[in-house]
Amino acid sequence: MHDVIIIGAGPAGLSAALWCDEMGLDTLVLEQNEEVGGQLLSVYNRIENYPGVRVENGREMRDLFAEQVKDADFDLWTNVEIESVNLSAKRIALRSGEKLQTISIIIATGVRRKRLGITGETELTGRGVTESGTRDRDQLAGKDVCVVGGGDAAAENALLLAEVCPTVTLVHRGEKLRARPEFVERLRGEHCITVFKESVLRRIIGETKVEGVEIMRGGALKPFQMAVQGVLVRIGVEPNTELFREQLHEDERGYIIITGEQETSVRNVFAVGDVSNPLAPTISGASGAGATAAKIISARLSRGKQ
Ligand code: NDP
Repeated sequence: MHDVIIIGAGPAGLSAALWCDEMGLDTLVLEQNEEVGGQLLSVYNRIENYPGVRVENGREMRDLFAEQVKDADFDLWTNVEIESVNLSAKRIALRSGEKLQTISIIIATGVRRKRLGITGETELTGRGVTESGTRDRDQLAGKDVCVVGGGDAAAENALLLAEVCPTVTLVHRGEKLRARPEFVERLRGEHCITVFKESVLRRIIGETKVEGVEIMRGGALKPFQMAVQGVLVRIGVEPNTELFREQLHEDERGYIIITGEQETSVRNVFAVGDVSNPLAPTISGASGAGATAAKIISARLSRGKQ
């Protein structure tokens, strides 16, 4: 029987684990990936707004977290596949057959990038389909590229790629871009960027590498094909909550609804980080939320009020 099982080892989960450890709780962290760090591993730009830390990218920050975790006393299992979670019974079954029992659970499973689910998106990943304009800028330099999405991420990537690519086509399903006004203004000023609004990417074309895209423009009767050598899809994120569906309260997009104590609708089950924070997802917020959940759990356990 553990005091706490934390699901997910990104900034929120690791912060919760460090605090649980400090409070003397018997803590186990389960991480599905081989490495800890969560979304930090796909941040390719500088991080300058986390107090006391200035790093070139998320991986560097992850390394700082990992270094600190090495000296802590909690158990951390990576490459873990969870079969099922029974939140009210506080039981977790692993694919390996192991059954775990705990007093409290902290859900720190984060979010993942949304995908279009179209032909070519998976098959051509790494062969022209990229996930980051910052990381792959040099590879994409000199190529015609298509960026999908209408938010800050798509706009920022389109602007970044416009510095090195002859043409950038931004494809957005809506009538109006959602990106902040200064990005929209800068998009207008870039002669090599074309924005297709009310348009949908239907297919990414290519056998061994990206050769083009098929786009359906709003009001058109037929899709058209356009030659590009790079595609970047940035259409937002979605929470990793499948394991808990129908066991706790979620909003309409699947984000977990929590109280001010980070507690979910199930007693002694907490949710921290982006999985329960759709409005202001930040690394600092995630670490703070992890600490809050740990302190609440510790206080409850020491009062014996389970
Ligand atoms: P957003 O959720 O802000 O925007 C997602 C965009 O993708 C929307 O325009 C949406 O269209 C579109 N979209 C969603 N689903 C689909 C789909 N299935 N097919 C086609 N288009 C789709 O996500 P972002 O990743 O842009 O940003 C996430 C957060 O990160 C935001 O808070 C943003 O402000 C922040 N951010 C900030 C940056 C900065 O300040 N430098 C840089 C990057 C991100 P629709 O509008 O029609 O819903």
